[in-house]
Amino acid sequence: MSVLVFIETEDGKIKKSSREAISYGAALGDVTALALGTVSADELATAGQNGALKVLHVADERLNAGLIQPYAEAIAAAANETGADVVVTAKSSLADAVVGRVSMKLGASLVSNVVSLPDTSNGFQVKRSIYTGKAFANVSMTTDKKVLAIKKNAVEIKEDGGSASVEAFSVSLDDSLFGAKITSTEKAEGDVLLPEADIVVSGGRGLKGPENWGIIEDLAGTLGAATGCSKPVSDMDWRPHHEHVGQTGVKVSPTLYVAVGISGAIQHLAGVNSSKYIVVINKDEEAPFFKAADYGIVGDAFDVLPKLNEALKAAQ
Ligand SMILES: Cc1cc2nc3c(=O)[nH]c(=O)nc-3n(C[C@H](O)[C@H](O)[C@H](O)COP(=O)(O)OP(=O)(O)OC[C@H]3O[C@@H](n4cnc5c(N)ncnc54)[C@H](O)[C@@H]3O)c2cc1C
Repeated sequence: MSVLVFIETEDGKIKKSSREAISYGAALGDVTALALGTVSADELATAGQNGALKVLHVADERLNAGLIQPYAEAIAAAANETGADVVVTAKSSLADAVVGRVSMKLGASLVSNVVSLPDTSNGFQVKRSIYTGKAFANVSMTTDKKVLAIKKNAVEIKEDGGSASVEAFSVSLDDSLFGAKITSTEKAEGDVLLPEADIVVSGGRGLKGPENWGIIEDLAGTLGAATGCSKPVSDMDWRPHHEHVGQTGVKVSPTLYVAVGISGAIQHLAGVNSSKYIVVINKDEEAPFFKAADYGIVGDAFDVLPKLNEALKAAQ
């Protein structure tokens, strides 16, 4: 099977979620990856470690901004050029907007939020996560060409491959595709960005006030994590709104979500329940969050967090 994987990069590096997508593609067939915009050939060659045989690179600076229409055009052109049976991307806010257009251009069926390899014993069936991770749907894809967007953290990253060859790929991108332009961007502060983070440490109203956030930041620093919070915390301006996690905030899907002094209301869980492991720290053993937790600590955050942080630092 011929597979084209679209790679997203950030700060010149292949995103972890794209390495997951390459690993997924490599389990299906021969992977050619596609990268758009300015990124070094050395970095792109590392896609080989995850199973890509070749990386096509459109080094057009106009593509640095992550624009929907030219991205869709370039991905569809590369899929046609390589005769891809399946196009794979990581699910992301950019990919969500792009994959629909790609599937239209290719006459392909599309399934997003895919969580496992297809069952090809009877056709081509994929499992997708629905209702913010509370249920799964099995979807049968009957078209010759298929587009799959893979949910973050659903796939183990393959790291035993070699180096991929990197080739320039030329695609004609008409000016009309650049009708929308990003004129400036404002990045959230912090070393680790919440939507992409592999580990998130979040605090709720149980932290009592913004002056106590140091214990959350210390733990996040030790774990290399992003910080998040519950909605009331951001509503009260204890923390900035871009940290608010949940149904009406950022939806996260990290490997580890640590919830401190958060009750576990359904609207908060809606944004975190596809995390791989959830650790809850709450002084109330009846807090609903414990039902969703893989591990729980019943205790006062102001006692537990400094001790946990010290123990983690000692273990590093
Ligand atoms: C339409 C709608 C949308 C919403 N969207 C969201 C959303 O996106 N995200 C979101 O988070 N909420 C959302 N909410 C709000 C949600 O229903 C809850 O009110 C909110 O999540 C509660 O926040 P909390 O757990 O921080 O506070 P609380 O409910 O006050 O819970 C605080 C917790 O901290 C514990 N605690 C207290 N002191 C300590 C301590 N010293 N050590 C350890 N634990 C302690 C308590 O036992 C308690 O469990 C939404 C609500 C509505 C109606």
